[in-house]
Amino acid sequence: MTKTKINLDDFLSDLERRTPGEDTFHQAAKDVLPDLIPVVNETPAYREAAILERLSEPDRTISFRVEWSDDNNVVHVNRGYRVQFNDAIGPYKGGLRFHPTVNRSVLKFLGFEQTFKNALTGLPMGGGKGGADFDPAGRSENEIMRFCQSFMQQLHRHIGPNIDIPAGDINVGVREIGWMFGEYRRITNHFAGVLTGKGLSFGGSEMRTEATGYGVVQFLCHMLAEHNDTIDGKTIVISGAGNVATFAAELAVCNGGKVITLSDSNGFIHDKNGLTLDKISWVRDHKKQSGASLEAYADEFDATWYPDAAPWSVECDIALPCATQNELDAEAATALVKNGCKAVVEGANMPTTRDAKAILRDGRVLFAPGKAANAGGVAVSGLEINQNRQRRSQSRDALAEALKDIMQNIHSVCADAGRSKDGIDYAKGANVAGFKKVADAMCAAGIA
Ligand code: NDP
Repeated sequence: MTKTKINLDDFLSDLERRTPGEDTFHQAAKDVLPDLIPVVNETPAYREAAILERLSEPDRTISFRVEWSDDNNVVHVNRGYRVQFNDAIGPYKGGLRFHPTVNRSVLKFLGFEQTFKNALTGLPMGGGKGGADFDPAGRSENEIMRFCQSFMQQLHRHIGPNIDIPAGDINVGVREIGWMFGEYRRITNHFAGVLTGKGLSFGGSEMRTEATGYGVVQFLCHMLAEHNDTIDGKTIVISGAGNVATFAAELAVCNGGKVITLSDSNGFIHDKNGLTLDKISWVRDHKKQSGASLEAYADEFDATWYPDAAPWSVECDIALPCATQNELDAEAATALVKNGCKAVVEGANMPTTRDAKAILRDGRVLFAPGKAANAGGVAVSGLEINQNRQRRSQSRDALAEALKDIMQNIHSVCADAGRSKDGIDYAKGANVAGFKKVADAMCAAGIA
C-alpha cells in the first residue's frame, strides 16, 4: 500500500523532535531533503519502503571512552565515535576527525553526506564517519601517538575490511593512520586493509594524499568548461592550509590559476603575488609542526596576515572553501557576490551555510557542493581498498588517470541530474543522483 506523501516541514519537525540538540545534523538534513522529497513522493517504491525515514537515521552510532596519559603522566579522557550511517551499497567508509568540535551531531551530518558522496563515486562504498573531541594542537608526537593507539583499542571492535574501513579527515593524516593501523595489527594479529590513507610502504595508495584537493580543482575545471570558461588566469581565494587546501592550491596553480589566500584557525594570509609551488610546499612543511600558525607565512614571504578572519572579502573570480563546516556565511557570500566571484566549489564538507547558498544562487554564482567536488579522496580510498584486496599496487599514473575519470563522471552525473531550463543546479543533481543509488539498493534488500 502506497503511503501518503511526505511533507517537508512535518518531516523536519519530526526529525528535530527525535534528535534534540543535533543542530549540525539538522542543517545537513534541511539542505538535502528539499531535493529528495519530490523524488520520494513521485516513487511509490521509495514511499512504501520508508526510504527517507530510514536514511535519516544511522544504522548505528557507537561512542566510547578514550583514555590516554600525557607526557607528564596526567590522565585525560576524550569521547570517541563511529557513526555507521548506511551500508546498502558497500561497507561503511568515511574519515576520522580529531577536533574539539567533534560530537554526535557533527559526525551524523558528515556520515549522512558521506553516504550520498560515496554513491556518486560509482564505487561500492557505504557511508560512515568517526573521530574524537581530542585537540592535537600543542600536543607532542608521543601524546598524539598514544591517543591514536588508545582510540584504536576501542574502535577495532567495530571495523573490518568487509565491515567498515575508516580513513583520515581533519587532524588525521598519514602519520595518525600509521599509528592506528599499527595498533590494529598489534591487537588483532591481522594485516588487512582496514584503514585507507596508509603510507605507501604498508598498503597505501599513490595519489590518495593529493586526491581530494586535486579532485576539487578537476571538478571546478569541468564546471567552468560546461560554461565555456577555464581556470587559466583566474584569481582564486582558498581557505584552510591542510591537506585539501594545499593540494587544491597546487593543482590550481599548475592549471594557470592565481591563488592568493590560504587560512587556518588563527586567520588568513593574502599574497598579492600569488602562491607558487615552492610556497605551497613551505606551508605544508610549516603546518606539520603541532599548533603552527600560518602567520609565519607573512614573515617568510611578501604577504599580509589578517588575524581572526576568513578570506572571503578578498576580491576573486573563484572561491574554494577547504577548511571546515559553516566557514562561509551570509556576510561572506554577500562579499563574494559584490566582488564578482563567478564560482564557489566546496573542498570542505558543508562549508557554506544555507543563507550563504541562497545569496550565491541569487547572485548567479556557480556552486558545487562538497559531496560531489571533494569526492576524489574517498574515490582513491576506494581504489586503495581494491589494491589491498588484490595485494597489489597500481602506479601513480594509472591512479591519476582513474581519479580524473571519476571526477569527470561525478561532474556528468550531477550535471545531468541537476539540469533544467534555468541551468545546472549541481547541489540538487548531487543529492538526487547519490540518493537514488542508495535508495534503489535499500529497496532491493527488502525489509525485515
Ligand atoms: P586538515 O586537518 O589537513 O586541515 C584543516 C584545515 O582547516 C587547517 O588549516 C585548519 O587550521 C583549518 N580548520 C579546521 N577547523 C577550523 C575551524 N573551526 N576554523 C577555521 N579553520 C579551521 O583537514 P583536511 O584538509 O583533510 O580537511 C578539510 C575539510 O575537507 C574538512 O571539512 C574535511 O571533512 C573535508 N574533506 C577532507 C578529505 C580528505 O581527504 N582529507 C576528503 C573530503 C572532505 P589549523 O591548522 O589552525 O587547525
